[in-house]
This record gives sequence, C-alpha cells and structure tokens, in this order.
Amino acid sequence: MKQLVAAGLLLSLNGAHAATQTVDCGRLLDVKSGAWRERVSIVIEDGTVKSIGPMASTPAPGRIDLSGKSCLPGLIDMHVHLTGETQPAVDAYRDRLTADPADMAYRSVKYAERTLMAGFTTVRDLGAEQALNVSLKRAIAAGAIPGPRMFTAGKSIATAGGHADPTNNLSHFLSHAIGTPGPAQGVINSPDEGRQAVRERYKEGADLIKITATGGVLSQAASGQNSQYTEDELKAIVSTARDYGFRVAAHAHGAEGLKRALRAGVDSIEHGTLMDDESVALFKKTGGWYVPTISAGRYVADKAKDPNYYSALVRPKAAAIGPQLQATFARAYKAGVKIAFGTDAGVFPHGENAKEFGYMVEAGMTPIDAIRAATIHAATLLDQPKRLGMLEPGFAGDIVAVDGDPLRDIKLLEQVKFVMKEGVVYKNL
Ligand SMILES: [Zn+2]
Repeated sequence: MKQLVAAGLLLSLNGAHAATQTVDCGRLLDVKSGAWRERVSIVIEDGTVKSIGPMASTPAPGRIDLSGKSCLPGLIDMHVHLTGETQPAVDAYRDRLTADPADMAYRSVKYAERTLMAGFTTVRDLGAEQALNVSLKRAIAAGAIPGPRMFTAGKSIATAGGHADPTNNLSHFLSHAIGTPGPAQGVINSPDEGRQAVRERYKEGADLIKITATGGVLSQAASGQNSQYTEDELKAIVSTARDYGFRVAAHAHGAEGLKRALRAGVDSIEHGTLMDDESVALFKKTGGWYVPTISAGRYVADKAKDPNYYSALVRPKAAAIGPQLQATFARAYKAGVKIAFGTDAGVFPHGENAKEFGYMVEAGMTPIDAIRAATIHAATLLDQPKRLGMLEPGFAGDIVAVDGDPLRDIKLLEQVKFVMKEGVVYKNL
C-alpha cells in the first residue's frame, strides 16, 4: 500500500495524468467577459482542455467535485525570482561568501512548490545567477519537483556596477579575485557586448531577455534610479533578442532609463516607479506593458523601518522608492497603460504572490481587471495567448478554485483551495 501511494505520488510528479478527467465547477469565470458561467464541467484530456459544457445531472465517475467552488484559469505571475528569497543583510552577505549554486538550487525547490500551491501555475522568472532558474524550469518540466510552469530570463543583463552586476560592493580584493564579469555572466558595456549577452542567454536556455535599465533598490549600489544603458546599447540588445524570438523585459525605476528602454522597443517595464507623463504617453505609443510589482514596494518600505534588515546602501533606497509604487500603479491604470500582473516574489516570501491583487484593487483597479492582468493579459505578454490565461478548448488544463466570489472579495485569491496544472492536481482542500 505504501509503495502504491509512493508510486502514485511519483506518477503525479512526473506530470502523468489520467487520459481524460472531468472537473465539475460550481461556477467558472470567463475572464474575457468578466461573467460567471454557472455549473460547468471542464473535460481535460492529456493536460489540455478538451471541452467545457453544462454539468451533467449524473456526475461522471471519477470526476473532480468543485461544485461548491468558483473556478478560474491558473494564475500567472510575470515577475518572480524563484531561486532566492529575502533575508537580513547579514545572512545575504554570508550567502554571497559561502553558498554554492547547489545550495541555492535546493532552497528554490520549496519556493517553487509554495508558488504553485498559492495558485500560480505559470511564472516568468526574471533573473538568477548561474542560470539556476533555467535548471529549475527543467526540473519542474521533467516532473522531478512540483512547481509552476516557468519562462525564464536566465541571468539578468546589467552594465558594470549596475543593478544585477554580481560583483557590486565586494571588497577590492574579492572583486579582483573574481575578475570583471562579462557578457557570459550578464554584464555588458557596449552594443557589441549587449548582442553577445543576448546570445549567451540563448545558449544558457533562456526564454526571454531581462535587462536592468536603471539602478535598483536591492543592489549594493548608491542609486536606485539612474539610467544604466546608452540608447545604442538598448537597441542592440532588443534587435538581437528579436533574432532569437525573445521578448525583452526591462527593470526600470527612473523615468529617463524607462523611456530609453521603451523607445528601444522593450516589451515590458518592470516596477516603473518614477514614470512621468511622457513615460505614460510612450507606453501608449509603443504598446509596452507595465508590470507593477506593488508587493515588492510595500515589503521593502516596511522592512526599511528595521535598521538591521537591509545594508546601509540599500535602506534609504527601499524607504524612498518602495512607498511610491502603488501610487504610480494607480496613475498608470487610470491613464490606460496595459498592465500585466507581477510581484517580484523573492523580494518578499514566495507564496504570498496573491496579495498583489489586494494592492491593485486598493489602488483603484476593478477586481476583474486585476484577474485579467494575471490571466489573459499575462498570457499575451508571454506570447502564449492560445495556450494560457483562459479555460477554453485547446488551452492548458490549469485550474484554480476558491470559496466564494473573488469579484466581490479579491482577497479570496489569497486562499486558493484547488490547484491543477496541465491536468495534474497538486492541491484539493
Ligand atoms: Zn525582480
């Protein structure tokens, strides 16, 4: 019996699923129209939605009974870092000296599981050292460990001393011992190196490109908002990314770096904290997406009150930039900027991603728009509009369910009771 259970667990982890399954939903949210469909059965075959129709009066044998629950498509977080998690500066520095990639990899197993159990069946991982996120993606896709479907940027591309330069603020001794990181390590200082860095990500197994267009809050550097690329560097990166079918996500807090990135043709701006009116106009002109990460802003602003949590370089940046994100989001939403859901999970504990919904609604977004940001809109930015973000025939069998009506109480999404990814049930409370 014990063996059977173990074998069953293994089967489910390997992504194997009964050929056909029926999920009976008390109601199902049509994210496009914003309307509920009452009492529907979703038939999943080989991990893909085969059909959706009225719930049979005689339930199919072996059906999954969610007749008392509200079903939605699996949620998508467009900005996570699954291979790390926030910790006090003293521990973070210790890790920089003592943790091997394998240490980080083993830790990330539980981060991935927590994310999936919170209802996020797909994530975009925007940067990790040593391409750990690519390895994590492979492990999840192979069914070795439970986690969300991942699209990854491999290593974020930075400029020397910029946000995501792995040697920032090390002692001169260590810095010289390590050597100057180059395009292979994700640090560039010319258009040519930008092109090479994109090709290195292709070799690394990335799905998209992430650049850090301005300073960042949590890097060990003075400015959280200065522009860190020239326009020709940005253009070289974006045009090379297109050759490989990569989309480009740009971290940006300051308005000048944000605008340079949009003018160069990036697909999304992450954070966008200090965007001005001209930035908003550029978003609309270029069709660029905004991924707000309010959760990260709230979390770092809160932690900055503790004098020991962040380093002396990081603390003032966290205190100044963190609180501004939610107001920026409110302005961007009102102005009609296209918004995709993203949290920067890892900057705060993994698994708390759904708090972002509450912050979005608190800032004036309607609950259905917040859900669209994490479903159809995220799927569009991922270039997966026919496979993810909706429950219709041909789409992935990614289903989450909650008690009650999240259109009335968005916080219900923080308590997901059921999670299915590609036809495999991972949670059923
Ligand atoms: Zn990030």
